[in-house]
Amino acid sequence: MSKGTDEVAVGIANRFALVGPPQSVEPYGDGLINRTFLVVTETLGYILQRINRTVFPEPERIMSNLSLLQGHLTHHAEPGLRIPALIPARDGRLFVRDEQGEVWRMMELIPNAGNLNSIENLDQARQVGRILGRFHVLMNDLSPNRLAVTLPGFHVTPAYLERFVGILAAGIPDRRGEVAEATELVTERQARAGVLEEARRKGQIPERVTHGDPKLDNILFDRETGCAASLIDLDTVQPGLVHYDLGDCLRSCCSVRSGPTDVGERFDLDLCRAILGAYADETEGLLDEGEIELLFDAIRLIPFELGLRFLTDHLEGDRYFRVTERGQNLRKARTQLALVEDIEGKESEIRQILAESFRSSRRPL
Ligand code: ATP
Ligand code: MG
Repeated sequence: MSKGTDEVAVGIANRFALVGPPQSVEPYGDGLINRTFLVVTETLGYILQRINRTVFPEPERIMSNLSLLQGHLTHHAEPGLRIPALIPARDGRLFVRDEQGEVWRMMELIPNAGNLNSIENLDQARQVGRILGRFHVLMNDLSPNRLAVTLPGFHVTPAYLERFVGILAAGIPDRRGEVAEATELVTERQARAGVLEEARRKGQIPERVTHGDPKLDNILFDRETGCAASLIDLDTVQPGLVHYDLGDCLRSCCSVRSGPTDVGERFDLDLCRAILGAYADETEGLLDEGEIELLFDAIRLIPFELGLRFLTDHLEGDRYFRVTERGQNLRKARTQLALVEDIEGKESEIRQILAESFRSSRRPL
């Protein structure tokens, strides 16, 4: 973090309508996309973020979605989850734009809550399923058309594949073993890459309001009760498919280190069962048959998509995903692709878990 940004943050913090003047403004958390600061006043904590304009060229869209979301949740007497309340600027706007044109926002700090590094037990897994399910239930009466698209094509796997194929056509500069191996894993699976988008285009599955990035890092757990209290990082909330959210959530929460290799990840079936069971209980009757039918494809596709994106970024010189050393994105790609292979090996068990979880909670077409 450059000193310049820290200094700017202090000045920006003062432009928001906080309760009391800020006593400290410090870089906070491990987020990779935005710049995040903890702002502390005498009585309260806040989160200040500078939105990454390279990733989100139109941050105003994010802010209007957040505001819509916040308003929507106030209609529910007991939402069962919390999203961080936006704190307006002193001039009444939702954000502050600095002299460089950067957009900054302030939110309440969710008190007494924190991230988990990994899921340690089945209770935590059930909490994850419950809070994601709760989010989808709450979004069910908010029309996706009312939300702006903040990240066009975010989970459109065929578009990522097209870009990758373009790179292959131009000739991979680095044809050493690991790149070649990862490339083969991707190309072997390309025929299935369009499965969700095709169903979406044909209207076989409905668009819904999705979180877009419900990985474990973006769920805050209450430190006292252990309950999942809040979903954060709402920049990617936009019209999408529940499959994106469930695929991403299971990818992130059920991957467990396996074996001695640096990229070995296995998909834990017990965690998957706990998450899906709690999700299905929470959302009872929300998903239709067509959506449930494609959930296994989603569980396989989302880690495939992420692996493909890491590999593409490695080949393009690490432009999108920040790295601290060359080769990190390739390693992350191999990890995701190993997870895909493991998921494929467990297809019948995962399908069984899906059938059991949604047995009593599916809505006929
Ligand atoms: P990512 O790399 O996940 O995309 P990001 O750069 O978009 O991250 P966030 O996930 O929004 O950033 O925030 C970074 C971290 O800051 C979170 O993991 C969490 O620990 C903390 N954090 C963010 N907002 C809040 C909040 N309202 N209350 C408490 N902690 C928060
Ligand atoms: Mg995050």
